[in-house]
Amino acid sequence: MSQIVNLLYYACFIVFIVLTLFVFLKNFKSTLNQYFSLFSLSLLGWLVTLYLFNRETDQNVLTLLGRSNFAAVGLAVFFGFLFVKEIIKKPSQYKAILFIETFILCSITQFTNLIDKSEHFINEVRITEFGILFDLYVLHLVGYIASALYSAFKSKVVNARTKRQLLIIGIGIFLTTAIALTTNVVLPYIFNNFTFQELGALSVLFLLLSVAYSITFQQLFDVRLVIRRTVVFTLLLGIIFTIYGGFIFILAQILQTGSIITSKQSFVGNFLGITLIGFSFDPLRRWLQNTTDHFLFKKEYEQQAVLKELTGNLNNVIGLDEALETVMQSIVKALHLQHAATFVFQPGENGSPAIKRIKQIGYHSSTHIFLEEKDFVINYFSRHPNLLLTANFEEELKQEKSQFNRKTPSGSKPSQAIRDYATKQAVLKKLHDLEVAVAMPLHINQQLIGLVLLSDKMAQDSFTREDLTLIELIGGQAVSSIQKAKLFEGDQMKSEFVSIASHELLTPISAIEGYLSMILDENLGHVDKQAKEYLTKVYTSAQRLSVLIKDLLSVSRIEAGRLKIEPQSLDLEKLIKDTIDQLKFVAEDKKIALNYQKPEKSLPSVWADPDRTMQILINLVSNAIKYTTKGSVTIRVDHHNQLVFVEVEDTGIGMTRQEQSHLFEKFYRVASPQTTGIIGTGLGLYITKSILEKMGGSISLKSAPGKGSCFTFTLPTFKVELSSLK
Ligand code: ADP
Repeated sequence: MSQIVNLLYYACFIVFIVLTLFVFLKNFKSTLNQYFSLFSLSLLGWLVTLYLFNRETDQNVLTLLGRSNFAAVGLAVFFGFLFVKEIIKKPSQYKAILFIETFILCSITQFTNLIDKSEHFINEVRITEFGILFDLYVLHLVGYIASALYSAFKSKVVNARTKRQLLIIGIGIFLTTAIALTTNVVLPYIFNNFTFQELGALSVLFLLLSVAYSITFQQLFDVRLVIRRTVVFTLLLGIIFTIYGGFIFILAQILQTGSIITSKQSFVGNFLGITLIGFSFDPLRRWLQNTTDHFLFKKEYEQQAVLKELTGNLNNVIGLDEALETVMQSIVKALHLQHAATFVFQPGENGSPAIKRIKQIGYHSSTHIFLEEKDFVINYFSRHPNLLLTANFEEELKQEKSQFNRKTPSGSKPSQAIRDYATKQAVLKKLHDLEVAVAMPLHINQQLIGLVLLSDKMAQDSFTREDLTLIELIGGQAVSSIQKAKLFEGDQMKSEFVSIASHELLTPISAIEGYLSMILDENLGHVDKQAKEYLTKVYTSAQRLSVLIKDLLSVSRIEAGRLKIEPQSLDLEKLIKDTIDQLKFVAEDKKIALNYQKPEKSLPSVWADPDRTMQILINLVSNAIKYTTKGSVTIRVDHHNQLVFVEVEDTGIGMTRQEQSHLFEKFYRVASPQTTGIIGTGLGLYITKSILEKMGGSISLKSAPGKGSCFTFTLPTFKVELSSLK
């Protein structure tokens, strides 16, 4: 048994020494690493003194060791507490006071008999005689352990990885202290039982395990690079020795020299072996590195896939807010960030960037990240278009500072450089305040149009080069979507203008039309022939203008989503007859037959807006007449599958496939010798298609140049919820 206990002690010594050295040397500047090293050193002190204590028989040395043992625990809880506080990034404000308290207590423990009065060796058991202040000592232990555990579990750490680290180390501390307090304080002090003291110390194994686990799997002290190097190096050596040995063995077998190899053969064998290693070393190393990277630095996204998805999503949004949201979601999701914010700027006073929009994800509120109009951060990024990594920036500033100190010890520092340095410091502070790990300014033509601020990753991993490339590529997308959104906003203003202007124009033009038709009406009075001719021209122009204005108004309403559609159950045949009545004179004028083919079965009523349906019919039939020089225009109706089909067929000029492909676009008009002189706006079919889609219908076309065209549109016979349609 004692052999096993001894072995465990040795193992703990080695692990503690290695761990302390490793963590300290890994980054001795980091406070976290310093506290941990001191914590583990104190625990080592506890273990060593206890180990010696249990093997010592001299009364005086025993007392000395016993007191050191208590003092070591006193120190351990203090450093353990500071370590936990450092993990949750809430360093204690009372460090100095706590240090003095610990220092005094440990000194009292070590040098007086107030806590550990004396140690005795009776019947192979070491008995402690507790001093009068031992309660105070217990209070010190319990106080630190309890507040460390309390801070660990109460802390509002957003970072999931830190949470896991805390949980694991918390469990380790809890188990260790619970056992150690029972065996080394409660049992001896209250129940006078000293037999388990030695085993109690081994409870640190739990703590060791939890720390080792956190280091390996939860990236405490970020040792993955070290692990990678060690794993790769060890495996590489192993593989090479195996290959090399195997090679020599096979060579010996082939040469059948048994175990005796001549020096010539051995030279050849070695030469070949070394050549083989020479060639295979690098590819092997790379392969091993990639394999270990796969496990240690798991790639969680595919750059191409992220960009493809983002482009797809951006294509579906037009507004600035949506675009910014989409861009940020994409980065945050791919890199698992805690939060992100984007500022969009527009030229303000004297052309300097003024904030136009702030969008954020994961911050408490926009006010939290608000930047002043003339903020030095904005100013700084106007002049520095490159991506900024806060950690690197901080490092640069440190170096800059040390250069200042070196260059100008007398204090005659160049004022511009000092000012630049101060600005950078202020920018750094702001970035720290906003918890920004990466800042990406967005520039167009040397103008700052946006600024993307990204937090650390949830897992606190550092940003890889690949991550930064992804961020930059997404930045490019952000720039173009900001531009697109600006254009769209401009477009929206334009269409609002068109909407208001056309509405205002419609009233006077209707009045002009009305009065002209009255003047031209023979019944109301005589107009002389010449004047009548001119007035008729004015009347036609006014009518054309009125059509154009109505079309523009419809388009602007469609685009603003304000086109009123009030569908109802409708007798389509009646509307077709009305259309024919309205247009039959125009057709007659052109000597074109306007036919209506009644359906074979009686037609069910359709679900549509009567005015809009009339607008569609008039548009299609008047187009058919307009673009037909001789022959006929035929309207047919049919129905199946709960849809009514209306065909408007003509024997007119027709269209090529290429022309057809643009037909439903805004302002598109076929430019050909046959269409010259035919007046139109190029808006009719666009409006027709938009209205049909809004009513749950559709439109299609068959046409061939010189043979005529046949437009077919459908309307539903059942009630369609408008909200279900776009
Ligand atoms: P427009 O006011 O120019 O008639 P539309 O949007 O109604 O505008 O039509 C767009 C273009 O489609 C027309 O300019 C014409 O070139 C072509 N088009 C429309 N209907 C027909 C048709 N029935 N036959 C031949 N071309 C047509």
